[in-house]
Amino acid sequence: MKRKVTAILSGLTIVLAAGCGQGNSNSGDGEPLQIMTTTAQIGDIAENVAGDQAEIETLMGPGVDPHLYQASQNDIQKLADADIIFYNGLHLEGNLVKVFEEIKNDVPTIAVGENVPEEELITEEGGNSSDPHVWFDPNRWTYAVDEVAAGLAELNEDEAGTYQENADEYISMLEELDQYADEKLQSIPEESRILVTAHDAFGYFGDAYGFEVNGLQGLSTDSEYSVRDVNNLVSLLVENDIKAVFVESSVSERAINAVIKGAADQGHEVSIGGELYSDAMGEAGTEEGTYEGMFRHNIDTITSSLK
Ligand SMILES: [Zn+2]
Repeated sequence: MKRKVTAILSGLTIVLAAGCGQGNSNSGDGEPLQIMTTTAQIGDIAENVAGDQAEIETLMGPGVDPHLYQASQNDIQKLADADIIFYNGLHLEGNLVKVFEEIKNDVPTIAVGENVPEEELITEEGGNSSDPHVWFDPNRWTYAVDEVAAGLAELNEDEAGTYQENADEYISMLEELDQYADEKLQSIPEESRILVTAHDAFGYFGDAYGFEVNGLQGLSTDSEYSVRDVNNLVSLLVENDIKAVFVESSVSERAINAVIKGAADQGHEVSIGGELYSDAMGEAGTEEGTYEGMFRHNIDTITSSLK
């Protein structure tokens, strides 16, 4: 195990050394800023805050699970050539931690999710890491927007005012979205506000809008679920007469199907209430390919299934 990590790291060092001097154009030379992000949620912020004067590339496309994502040599090269990197942090991109540790010596590498103040993070009792899925509360996600604007301003001071203006506009959008969610979700009776999904991606959502959330897998999809996990969720569904569970675009349906079957064996019929975007967004160029569209899709799907 240790040998393997060392091998990856020494490979990375070679790539970084080879990449030296080619990229990292930085600001002021008229070249567009090269911005790399891990998730599309962060890419959406970067596109809106940096505006036309930047080229943004996102590593993780639709359906891609960030918990399990491994960087290819090509990815590492792109990261090394970037002017700035924004990632979520809080161990969302668990397999990239070592890559970022190495790369941050050469390229500004910023964990935007870690700008959320500690007292606003959800940390399991006795757990040593916090829930990384901060984008599902638009209010908490504003901290990530601030962090992107600050990172860009440091890179290109001349445009700091524009970045701030764009960030303020993006934050207004998040506030409207929060209001939309508040109003829409009110139509769901309080006793039906139980969200069952494949993994625990909706903790901040639940905290923001008064939902109990239950995932078959924990905060990361890198753990296997047990028969006991399935049985616990089945009991929850039966006891609370919950009729809909949700699948996630970036997680296999196999897990949630085991729960549906378990409930059926006890004579309780449960249907799939729809597909939610949890850790990945939709296809670029579609509504769900933007943060705003993806969030609305989730709110509308949850509302129509549970009300
Ligand atoms: Zn997740």
